[in-house]
This record gives sequence, C-alpha cells and structure tokens, in this order.
Amino acid sequence: PFSNLSVIPLDPHYALKELFNADHDPKKVILGSGVYRDDNSKPWVLPSVKKAEELVDQAQDSARYEYLPITGYAPFYNAARDLLFGPFDEKAVHVVSLHTISGTGANHLGARFLSDALRPSSVWLSDPSWVNHANIWGLVGVTVKLYPYWNREKRVLDFEKMIEKLETEAATGDVIVLHACAHNPTGVDPTKEQWKRIAEVCEKRALFPFFDCAYQGFATGDLDEDAWAVRHFVERGTLEIAVAQSFSKNMGLYGERVGAFHLVTASPDSAAKAKGHLTRLQRGQISQPPTRGSKLATTILTNPRLFQEWLADLREMSSRIKNMRKALYEELLSLGTPGTWDHIVSQIGMFSYTGLSPEQVATVQTDNHVYILKSGRISVAGLNTKNVKHVAEGIDAAVRK
Ligand code: PMP
Repeated sequence: PFSNLSVIPLDPHYALKELFNADHDPKKVILGSGVYRDDNSKPWVLPSVKKAEELVDQAQDSARYEYLPITGYAPFYNAARDLLFGPFDEKAVHVVSLHTISGTGANHLGARFLSDALRPSSVWLSDPSWVNHANIWGLVGVTVKLYPYWNREKRVLDFEKMIEKLETEAATGDVIVLHACAHNPTGVDPTKEQWKRIAEVCEKRALFPFFDCAYQGFATGDLDEDAWAVRHFVERGTLEIAVAQSFSKNMGLYGERVGAFHLVTASPDSAAKAKGHLTRLQRGQISQPPTRGSKLATTILTNPRLFQEWLADLREMSSRIKNMRKALYEELLSLGTPGTWDHIVSQIGMFSYTGLSPEQVATVQTDNHVYILKSGRISVAGLNTKNVKHVAEGIDAAVRK
C-alpha cells in the first residue's frame, strides 16, 4: 500500500544542511537553521546552564527516571508561565499551562486543541512564517490562509495590508498565529501601536490569537520587553489567547526539547474544562514530557543568582548577534554593494530577511560556499568576525551578477 504514497521533499533546513555537509571547501559557511553559534562557529552551552546541570545532578535521587505527570513538571510550567506573563491577578486571569516537547510540541498540542474546540474555518499565518506552522496546522486538518506581512519591495512590515486582510476576510472564530517577538523569518515585529491595532481586530472580528514565543530575550535582550505583546493582549481583559513557548533558543536547550503551552481563558470553569481536554490530548500524543531539560530550566528560573547569570548570557547572545548585523551591514557598505541594506540592522532577533532572490542565493552558494535558505533568510548567529567579510563579498558578487 505504501508504493502509492506521494514523495515528500526534505525540509528545506535539512536539505541545506546535507548540501553543506557534502561541501569540503574550508571557507564554507552555513546561515540556515536558527541555532546560536559563538565567534568560532561552535555551539555554546550557556554558563548558567552549566551551573544548573551541576545543581540538578547533585540533587538527583533514585526517583530521577520516574515518569512526570501527564501535564509535565509543575515547577517548570509555573515558572515558565510567570516568565511569560509576568505578575498577573490570578482572580481575573485564568491560565492553563502544560509542559510540552518544546515549542514545536506546544504549537502542535495547541493546534490540535484549538482545531477541536473552536472548529475554525481557517488558521491565518503571516506571509511568510516559520515553515513548520503550515505543516502543523495542515496535519490537524485546518485550512491554512496567509495574511500579508512582509513588503518585499520596501523590506518592511506590510501592516495596513495585514489589517485590511484580517478585517475583510477572516471569519469569526478563526485562529490567527502571531509571533510574540523576533518574527521568524523576517526579523520584523509590529510596533506597540500596531500590536494594539492587531488586538482590536481580534476583538472586533472575534479571532483567536495564538502566539508563538520562541525568542523571548533574544529580540531586545530584555525578557519583559519581548513579552510585551502577549502581556498586552492579556491585560486588555477582552481576549482569550494561547501561547506556545520554547526554551530552545533563549537557554540553548535545543535538543532537550523544553517548552510549554499556555491557554488564557475567560473563566475558571473554561480553564478547568480546557485542562481536561489538553491533558487527554497530551496523554494520546506523548503520555508525559521528558524530565531533565525542564529541571535545568526550572533551576535557572527559580534560583535568583542563576537567573541573573542567565540574563547576562542572554545579553551576550543578543549583543553578539547585533554586532554581526552591524558588521555585515558595514562590509556591504564598504563594498558599495548595490541596493539598500538598512533592514539588516533594523531587523531584530536571530534572523535577517536579506531580500536576496533565489537566483542570488544559488550564486552565493556555488561561487562562495555560503549556504542560505532559498527565501533569502539568513541566521545572523551563523556569522562571526572571521567569516562576515567572506559572506559580504559573496552577497556583493551575487547582487552585481
Ligand atoms: N516557533 C518558531 C517561530 C521557531 O522559530 C521555532 C524554532 N525554529 C519554534 C517555534 C520551535 O522550536 P523548538 O521546537 O525547538 O522549541
């Protein structure tokens, strides 16, 4: 029966990685996946995480391999919730939280739950969005529609078109996926005023906002600032929302799969009912999430000294990325590369949508061994003081070709 299956192309990130691995040129550079690298292109275990490892290991007892509850490790998802929402009035705001298999698991659990509970006619994703959003929502059987987000010519947020589309075409009860900060792939976020207008449209059209928060602390280096949009939607007191939260990037815990799903409901009764359904779904999907990564994250979030050290680690990562944006921009300016490149420094977070065409991306790859996704998105964390000139020269040559 499987011979009739259609052929599914390899995910673009993994396809790029395979090509990169097969290239033996010493100058090769990959700017694909959103993973942090230090100035030597090496993965970086955060010093705060190393200390958390020691504390977790010291505290290990014979129960360390026991199952967690279905909803996960409560000290973790409560601390994760507080990091995201900040202090809130528990009498007015009712939050259900579950510990998930990182941000992807939270997106999937949320998509499945919202698809069952709201029966939306469509889910609205930004054009473009993280590639897995359309995949996840397709897997749960909800029609995916796109709202304008990126203005290709001006290389800015297409805000008025976004609002117009949602106001005229989104149906009551539709889900709208929003990136809480550091939009992937464009690196362009709405301003606070624009977030307020998005919230108004959600109220007016009864759209259900589902935030994806994969970069808290990465956008500005300030955890509260990066959670502003989520907190604003909650503070309005008029909206129920969901949030998928990941600690892959901000703690560098990628493979540990540490994340949470949060649902803010209008009443304790809704929260209790939603919790039952979410727990049942989680039971069917994974039974219970893994332990160790969540203990590392909890140690950092609940130990005041380690928390301060983590803030310093976050600042180190976000400022290295900012410096690399500046370095790439300055190299392009000094080469006199045709076009405007201001967006490279004005965009935030891990990514820059360079505006390179698929043909230019292919040229940089063949001529300079620099591997970039076809969309022209680069992971700025892949740049360092040793390779930025080489990358800029490759871009320069491709643009002039
Ligand atoms: N959402 C967005 C927007 C992302 O960029 C990512 C990571 N690339 C994720 C979710 C999920 O990552 P993880 O499953 O590692 O938490």
